[in-house]
Amino acid sequence: MNAETPQAPHASKVCERCIGRAFANVGTGIANPERGRNFLQNIENEPKLSHIEVVGEESCQICQGVFQRLDAYFQEFIEQARGIEFNTYLVGSRFPKKTIEMDESFQKELGSGQGEPIKREFNREFGKVIWARTGKEAEFSEPDLNIVVDINYDSFQLITRSIFVYGLYRKMRRDIPQTRWIHRKDMSTSIETLIGDILMPMVQGRNYFLHGAGREDVDVQMLGNGREFIMEVSEPRIRTFSLEDLEKRVSNSGEGVEIFQLRISKKEEVARLKGAANDKTYLIRVKANADIERERIEEAAGKLTGKHIYQRTPLRVSTRRSDLIRDKTLQDVTVEDTLGNIAVIKVRAEAGTYIKELIHGDEGRTKPSLSEIYGEPLTVESLDVVWIHRNGE
Ligand SMILES: [Zn+2]
Repeated sequence: MNAETPQAPHASKVCERCIGRAFANVGTGIANPERGRNFLQNIENEPKLSHIEVVGEESCQICQGVFQRLDAYFQEFIEQARGIEFNTYLVGSRFPKKTIEMDESFQKELGSGQGEPIKREFNREFGKVIWARTGKEAEFSEPDLNIVVDINYDSFQLITRSIFVYGLYRKMRRDIPQTRWIHRKDMSTSIETLIGDILMPMVQGRNYFLHGAGREDVDVQMLGNGREFIMEVSEPRIRTFSLEDLEKRVSNSGEGVEIFQLRISKKEEVARLKGAANDKTYLIRVKANADIERERIEEAAGKLTGKHIYQRTPLRVSTRRSDLIRDKTLQDVTVEDTLGNIAVIKVRAEAGTYIKELIHGDEGRTKPSLSEIYGEPLTVESLDVVWIHRNGE
């Protein structure tokens, strides 16, 4: 321990507050300076204090009068926090290493074992000043504003809590991904940028991230009841904004993305979204080399309804995902329409089913496939998610 080493700084001039802090956990309802006074009055000729001179806070070698500068800190804080909207806050602090070591070794000398660190007293006392002057509440778990006072440099770090907006999106185009692909310039538009570029300036944030409940391929439309997402904006200076305005501006932008049912969310909900595993219904335009016979394709579809299929990781994603065999259940496979060599197939499948591979078979890696049962090569012309079966529907 530092306190045991010969270099550990020892205080010889100490204030009543720093003496009182060594007994901070004894009794309640009194502040540390009063505790210090009580201790000094009740103990005559305390040998542990024989080498200590009791001084005013500004001369104290431990706290160096930091508690007398709370007003000045508050003025500086209010100046720096101008334009930042917050209702709740939490105070933290960084003290010089020497101060912390001196505080610890002094408390050890007194041997009460009932003290509190100087940081904790400072955080509490400065928090009280902010509460008294602003009327805003301290909050420990999720404060709007984290205030870190660096006593080394008399500087502040102000970090606001991210804003999370929950909603559903529909994507009516086949050329944009869900999130930014920073390494591909031709994919600079995404659902994430279409929402984030509007929301971020509204709240004067620093950056944004879209968390989706799964994702569809770039060339797949997301229709029907939409996909759940949470948009996170980090370090916002503004917390009051219109969700309705955001919804309208994104949905009316003419970019083929609609968002709806927006509400304010929390970080915890991101995990729920990421863990969601719902059945989905797809509409697939399937193409054959020759005209499709309605009865024959209906018979093939019927054979897949209610069946398990086994899918080895598709060739197109095998560089990114480990090679596994997935067992997926198909709830329903029906033929909606046929015209020439095109058929429109509707499939309700378990979360994580590779639909394109279910149709063409992926060189035998998906078994059985519609192509295999139909007996001819089939390709996917286009694919849409038309419903996500949330809440067990
Ligand atoms: Zn002191």
